[in-house]
This record gives sequence, C-alpha cells and structure tokens, in this order.
Amino acid sequence: MLSTQTQILRISQGQLNLLERCPRQFQHTYLENLNAPSDPAHEEKQTSGSRFHLLMQQQELGLPIHSILQADPQLQSWMTAFTHAAPEVLNTATDHQTFRESEHYRTLQVQDYLLTVIYDLLIADHQQAQIFDWKTYPKPENKRNLAQNWQTRLYMYVLAETSEYLPENISMTYWFVQSGSKPQNIKFTYNNTEHNKTAKKLNQLFTQLTTWLEHYQRGELLPQVTVSSKACDYCQFATLCKRTPVTETSINQVLPNFDTIEEVSLEEFKSEI
Ligand code: SF4
Repeated sequence: MLSTQTQILRISQGQLNLLERCPRQFQHTYLENLNAPSDPAHEEKQTSGSRFHLLMQQQELGLPIHSILQADPQLQSWMTAFTHAAPEVLNTATDHQTFRESEHYRTLQVQDYLLTVIYDLLIADHQQAQIFDWKTYPKPENKRNLAQNWQTRLYMYVLAETSEYLPENISMTYWFVQSGSKPQNIKFTYNNTEHNKTAKKLNQLFTQLTTWLEHYQRGELLPQVTVSSKACDYCQFATLCKRTPVTETSINQVLPNFDTIEEVSLEEFKSEI
C-alpha cells in the first residue's frame, strides 16, 4: 500500500496505468488496499506465468531446467515452441561485449516518485539495448493499445534515462507464448519524440498526483472518471462508486479487474519505501 506519509513513493507501470485510467480506482487499490477476493482461475494463470518466468531465468543463468520441464508438460510445450520461434533470444553464448541479464531491475526518480521497472531480459551491446518481456497469454489484436500501455512507455523511458543509449537504440519486444499456438511477438522501437512525450506525461501525472494526495490527506477523494466512462463497466469498485444500480453485490463479491493486477514478477515489490 502506498503511504501518503512517505516522502518518496515507489510507482510501477501497473500503478501508472491505473492512475491514468481512473484516479479513484488508484485510490481504492493503492491507498486503501481494497482488493477483490482472488479468483482461482486467474490465480492459476498467474502461477503458470510465474513458473515460465522462473524457467526463463534459470535458463538464462545456465542452470539445469530439464527436470522442471519433465515435471510440467505445459512448461515443456511453451519452452519447445519458444526455442523454435526465437532461438536467438535464448542463445546465451554471447561474446564478452554483450550484456545479458534476466530480471534486470532499474529505478528512476521523477519528482517525489521512484519509478521501478523489471525487465524479464535485457540484452545490450555497444550498439543497442533490447528489452524483452514474456507474456503467457495470446498476442493482443491491438498493437496501439500495447504501445500506450505504461509498461511499454515506462520501460523504454527508464532505460534511456538511466543509460548511455540513445532512444533510437532502444527497443522493447513482447513475446506471447500460449499452449497450442506458435509464440508471437510485438516489437516497439523508440525515438526522441516518444521519449519527450513520455517525460512530459509523467511530469503532468505526478504533479496532479501530488495535489490529489495532499487533498486526500485532508479528507478529499481522488477524482472519478465521467459517469459514461467505459472504465466503470469493468471496474470492481462500480458498486462502491454507485456507477451501477445498487444491488446486493458488494465489493467483496465482484470479480477482480485483472487490469489492476501487476504483471507477473519474480521480484517481490514493496510499493512503500
Ligand atoms: S467505478 Fe468508475 S469511477 Fe469508480 S473507481 Fe471504478 S472506474 Fe473509477
């Protein structure tokens, strides 16, 4: 839970997505820690995703993965498909000029906020830096939505700000693995224009957030989206916000909004520092 008492707040891409979608949703989720009960089907998917991330990390570290694969047919099928689809990504036998690290962690302070990112894999040489992210669900139809997701924007932004690489030499590739289908990827390149846009947007968001948090400490709620917003249709707090006809459904009975759940990460995050 974020604490408004602290000087510096840690912010992840998931929190930025939520803040941009609806400040009130951000308030309920991160300031008040109101969460819907976990959904078993979703939990199972998250566990599978975590196992795949762990497997990829072990593979990157050169640790044996044979016994893990043997014990888990789903992981085996994902790994086999991924090995065929992207052998160059899995090839750890690189020269000494190339940096590779899985679960690569970076932070960047902007105003009173500490942006945190974890790259599933970072491969960098003297020319370019490539960020990779593993997803264990199908490739989304709309590339534009993914481009606008804060994971894409923030991950490349933080690397450009915390390294010597020019934005033009940074890329981010999502790999989507899913049982029964060939892994597919979506690659984003970066440039100075996008970098400046992201910097401006982050500064705007954080300036607003600082004001909202000050007001919140005085008892004011963070703003809601407009009544006609589609965001409310899928929000777990619709009843609380009186955005649906009030029924017996309570916040404890609704399904979780998966968008508010952080990406799978092996690193345990504390959102309060
Ligand atoms: S119901 Fe609508 S206004 Fe309320 S938190 Fe959800 S998205 Fe925001």
